[in-house]
Amino acid sequence: MLTSTAYNHINIRYCREAAKGVYGMARCSRCGEYFYREPHEKWKRLCLDCWLDDKRKREEDGQRRERQVEWLESRIDKLEDENEALRRQLSARMLPASPMNGFLSHFPALIRFCHPDRNPGDPTAHELTVWLLDAREALKNENARVGARAATV
Ligand SMILES: [Zn+2]
Repeated sequence: MLTSTAYNHINIRYCREAAKGVYGMARCSRCGEYFYREPHEKWKRLCLDCWLDDKRKREEDGQRRERQVEWLESRIDKLEDENEALRRQLSARMLPASPMNGFLSHFPALIRFCHPDRNPGDPTAHELTVWLLDAREALKNENARVGARAATV
């Protein structure tokens, strides 16, 4: 039977040799405890408890990041909508005050009154319809130009 001192001596020697990788033992780089590993498993640096703890933390981090990404994506969507609304408001404010601002809203009625189908045989009807279509196009282009300039301010 080994005495307590002899046992401790053997145990200390075993642990020192285990730390050197003898007997398939290794020391956990996290908690410092000894753990068993096969001689070909030199890549194992953590004991099972620390490895499981590490794995659980990685999974929790992954889940937390997924939730953050979802939250950020929804935030981006909201901000894009808000940005678009503000852009529209700004371009509307930047339009110079002009009687022509009501032109587009009255355009359908104007075209209805002037259209050659409604005024058969009237040469002015064709002329006015062409002029209204050109004017609408010119006003839309002008509004887009002013809106684009306002958006870059
Ligand atoms: Zn450990």
